[in-house]
Amino acid sequence: MTMDFARRRGRLESLFRRRGFDHFLVTHEPNVAYLTGFTGGDTALLLTRGRPILLSDARYEQQLAEECPGLELAIRRPPRTMHEHYHRTLRSAGVRHLAFEGDHMTVDQATRIQDGPRAAAIAPLNGLTAQLRAVKDRHEIACIRRSIAVAERAYEDARASMRPDWTERRMACELEYRIRLLGGSGCSFPPIVGAGPRAALPHGRPGDTRIDDHPFTLVDWGATVDGYASDLTRLMVKDKIPPKLERVYGVVLRAQLAAIAAIRPGARMGDVDRAARHVIEDAGFGRRFGHGSGHGFGLEIHEQPRLAPGQDGLLKAGMVVTVEPGIYLPGWGGVRIEDDVLVTRAGHDVMTTVAKDLCQ
Ligand code: ZN
Ligand code: ZN
Repeated sequence: MTMDFARRRGRLESLFRRRGFDHFLVTHEPNVAYLTGFTGGDTALLLTRGRPILLSDARYEQQLAEECPGLELAIRRPPRTMHEHYHRTLRSAGVRHLAFEGDHMTVDQATRIQDGPRAAAIAPLNGLTAQLRAVKDRHEIACIRRSIAVAERAYEDARASMRPDWTERRMACELEYRIRLLGGSGCSFPPIVGAGPRAALPHGRPGDTRIDDHPFTLVDWGATVDGYASDLTRLMVKDKIPPKLERVYGVVLRAQLAAIAAIRPGARMGDVDRAARHVIEDAGFGRRFGHGSGHGFGLEIHEQPRLAPGQDGLLKAGMVVTVEPGIYLPGWGGVRIEDDVLVTRAGHDVMTTVAKDLCQ
């Protein structure tokens, strides 16, 4: 099973042509990876009438030849500057009017590209590759499944080796270590490990708080495997479950299951969020759920689509989203439960398997 990069580029080309452009410069690294298979950095892809050109420098010449066979390379060598290199390549390709990723280029880069004699006129064109990447193909789904398997196994192994003196930071280190031992290239984002009241910080950084000193600890982690992310959240609970935790956890779990049940092709993204939010509001915690119910992920940890209020887009088969409602009570702690869900033709498939019952 290999990825069909030429087909992806063809689809992107028809998207920018439909918007009146003949040439498109892709600079966002995950987009370049998606369209060419290149896993290095500092490389842009110029799409110009069916003739893709990779602009890079001598550091990546061999890697580009290995990972992107058949693609034309424009390699910069000293003393030519990056922007001279862009100008020359654009001129020799006959580009006068160029669309670029306005959401991924700095003002300085854009200014330099359009500065100078006979420079191409440029115009931002945002979100096109993101739109393609929102729907995963079979190969990508297989990568995400492997990423989930590694993340889940790492969590299990880390928990099995836990000691009473472990801090949040120690747990985060252990997750990263286990993920790498299992063949992942690392965490898909810095793990969030929040013990007791620190679990009320939805994106708290692991610190020196001891896990064993608190009745529960929130862990949000994921692996990167073959370039693809996973993203899960679970609560680690000490032997005795406080009644308040049981109540809050029950609300979050009902909300999460309601959102998952709403996932199918054609469902409005905002309605999936609504399904979770409704349960949490009904239980009186509406103001304590301050983020969206989920997000797409793949080559990056946050991608399209967004499951959040006001999102009018419709889910399509092949999209992969997290479902992660939460309730955060300052001074007490927080509960979030996060699974990774594939939109299938028949409805959905929950890809993550770590148990969600409180007595673990
Ligand atoms: Zn997460
Ligand atoms: Zn997430």
